Amino acid sequence: MQDTLGRSITYLRLSVTELCSLRCRYCMPAEGVTKLAHSELLTEEEMITAVRAAASLGVTKVRITGGEPLTKPNILSICRQVCATPGISDTGITTNGLALPRYAAALMECGLRRVNISLDTLREDRYRYITRLGSLSDAIKGIESALSAGFDKIKLNAVLIGGFNDDEIPALAALTQRWPVDVRFIELMPMSGNTEFPPESYMPVSRVLEALPALQEEESDGVARLYRLPGAMGCVGLISAVSQHFCGTCNRIRITADGHIKPCLHSREELCLKGLDEAGMRERMIQAILAKPASHGVLNAFTRSSTPRSMNQIGG
Ligand code: SAM
Ligand code: SF4
Repeated sequence: MQDTLGRSITYLRLSVTELCSLRCRYCMPAEGVTKLAHSELLTEEEMITAVRAAASLGVTKVRITGGEPLTKPNILSICRQVCATPGISDTGITTNGLALPRYAAALMECGLRRVNISLDTLREDRYRYITRLGSLSDAIKGIESALSAGFDKIKLNAVLIGGFNDDEIPALAALTQRWPVDVRFIELMPMSGNTEFPPESYMPVSRVLEALPALQEEESDGVARLYRLPGAMGCVGLISAVSQHFCGTCNRIRITADGHIKPCLHSREELCLKGLDEAGMRERMIQAILAKPASHGVLNAFTRSSTPRSMNQIGG
């Protein structure tokens, strides 16, 4: 289905949980995360009904996210059913990777072919600092499991943070020479869960081009501008979510774990799906698509996102 500006909505990001095994400083607070009651969450059946409703409106691609989707006990059943939904031809998952040693092969068996793994640093001390809880060696084991499982596409996502990991641009990009993966640098977004970083931490991804003059431009793919290092197996992607937004070509809607459709990542506007049957959900999705704003307006280090939700409550 097209929105009022002629953008075709073909991509759904489905958040299956707000809970997470980590507490990344740019994403969610260290403490005080209230666990939603079961009755407030979409059930597995409602999630699959929502995916069917979205497919009936022309959605072909689903990305399963969270919170950390691999903490959801029924994640494999959800993935299997999403992959089997008629009309859905492309299903991926976004994960911090820690549970991939346990899940990578099973996700492949479900039919899932793409995995995005968050990796902001290659230094153990920094990994522990940024995630508050995690271990870099566990994240690397997760990446290695994904490589062994044979996914079609593995992308490593690094949020670029001035004074934290901007000196690691070359080392992170060099992973594309070591493994058949894309490494994507993402601009830090001023979400409500991100209370830790001062304005100087926000830096445009053009910094990556300055740090790596050897990068050669390739054809772009969706929201990422793509480049390649000499001899690399994968691409370096730049996602300029803040400095140069891509609202004009936005093709996505989001569903939160508590059952709200978000027409735009940064807008307050949400429509509730909970308790509806497929026809009711379809109607709400049509309303949401028609309510998609032209753009998210001004967003920078000083102007926060309009949504009160933190990223783990939306799904990134
Ligand atoms: N837990 C999974 C993970 O970390 O990949 C999936 C959910 S996480 C919310 C999805 C993505 O959002 C991650 O790549 C994370 O780095 C990104 N993210 C979270 N907060 C962000 C922020 N303030 N600015 C930019 N990206 C952010
Ligand atoms: Fe968890 Fe992902 Fe947010 Fe980190 S970015 S706290 S792993 S949801």
